[in-house]
Amino acid sequence: MGPPALNISSSEPVEDAQQNLLPSKPPPLPEDSLLEVQSQRRANWARFSFAFGVAACIFACVAAVFVLFSCRHRNQADFYSDPEYTQRWGFSRPLKTLSRPVVLLISSDGFRYGYHWKVPLPNIHRLQVNGTEAVPGMIPVYPTLTFPNHYSIATGLYPAWHGIIANYFSDPSSNERFHPGIIDPKWWLGEPIWESIVKHGLISATYFWPGSDVSKGAWNCNLPYCQHYNHSVPYEDRVDTVLAYFDLPDDKRPSLITLYFEEPDHTGHMVGADDPHIDKAIVRVDQMLGRLFDGLDARNVFDDVSIILLSDHGMVGTCDKKIIYLEDFAPWISMPSSWTDTLSPVLAVRPPPNVDVKEVYQNITEALSSGKVANSEFLQVYLKEDFPSRLHYSSSDRIPPIIGIVAEGYKLERKRSPAKECAGAHGYDNEASSMHPIFIAHGPQFAKGRQIASFVNVEVYNLIASILGIQGAANNGTLSFSRTVLLPSI
Ligand SMILES: [Zn+2]
Repeated sequence: MGPPALNISSSEPVEDAQQNLLPSKPPPLPEDSLLEVQSQRRANWARFSFAFGVAACIFACVAAVFVLFSCRHRNQADFYSDPEYTQRWGFSRPLKTLSRPVVLLISSDGFRYGYHWKVPLPNIHRLQVNGTEAVPGMIPVYPTLTFPNHYSIATGLYPAWHGIIANYFSDPSSNERFHPGIIDPKWWLGEPIWESIVKHGLISATYFWPGSDVSKGAWNCNLPYCQHYNHSVPYEDRVDTVLAYFDLPDDKRPSLITLYFEEPDHTGHMVGADDPHIDKAIVRVDQMLGRLFDGLDARNVFDDVSIILLSDHGMVGTCDKKIIYLEDFAPWISMPSSWTDTLSPVLAVRPPPNVDVKEVYQNITEALSSGKVANSEFLQVYLKEDFPSRLHYSSSDRIPPIIGIVAEGYKLERKRSPAKECAGAHGYDNEASSMHPIFIAHGPQFAKGRQIASFVNVEVYNLIASILGIQGAANNGTLSFSRTVLLPSI
């Protein structure tokens, strides 16, 4: 739509019409009349300027709306038609050896974004320079704990939706308690990607992933495609089993393979994120990736496989001077351990039914504002219904009615003890950059050497579904995400 036509009065051809009526030489205008004409001309010019200004504004607004609409349209529906996009990143590359796409989803637990700058890691570097990396890292879901995040990656759902709201929690309806290792499907909601794939007639294989050894729906965790978790299995055995899947005939080869390493999370908890021991742990993971990549190269499938290397969360150092003690709350409230599912970094309080929740909350906030609780400014406590919406952590009965966020690097403990220690932790606000893990993807549909902005890990489910060309289950991710990350086909 173009700008509206300017409505300026056109000059009538009055001169010719009036010429015969006027004397050959018009009498001079009196002084006042001259002033009046000049004034009239100024007024006319002002009206013209005003009208032109209004028209220009309308035109600018219409143009701005058009540009905005064009950008939005390009992002959502017509992204690939942008010649700049395809000229810069190209198109997806055809498979050379495999008959159909295979996604290899690898988690290195607690691999904080930035660890890969600490020491040379040639195999991760190979993925970086030839693949697509999220910078600065991927955004985990809150709480930034292992089980909620791995299961969000698998389902595309926030914890309030998939039900694994923490590593340890209680269900108020049954009073049963969840802990890692429980594989009863009643705890695990949503549809994980390995189940979605099986529903489409394809094969999934999982070499460890939180939730993968839960048989539910169309998914049964049985050998040879699913391994029940055993932390003592050497990394080499895990890698070699994954490689063996590529030796199977086409109709037996999985379309998705997960692979999980406990490091560097295990070391990070013991020494913190900045200790030199971390270097050894990440070098070990990189060596295992090297073993894996060598095996894929030997089978001539490295470039065919969509390799997604990621992690569940980051890690931050904690130390004995950064502690908040519940014993300081005693004059206002005493919270027995039966009230608290967890203390730190998530204070999860569920008072018994005969205790008023708002009164407990009130007492906690009075204690925190009293000036008598050491480091009280580093604990933020909320009623569940007032919890920040950006964290998506309220719409589940499993989430307790009172939640406290401990500040990054701090801990909440019951009482003072002579033990002095520095270590590492995670579980804090997912806005903290220390909680952000790596995301690097390599394969036929990923651009080489491309960096993309950070995104929440609930997008990974749709990304895998798009690579495999299947329709996933409803989830909290966005359908447009895959179109902005994956290369278009020619
Ligand atoms: Zn973890």
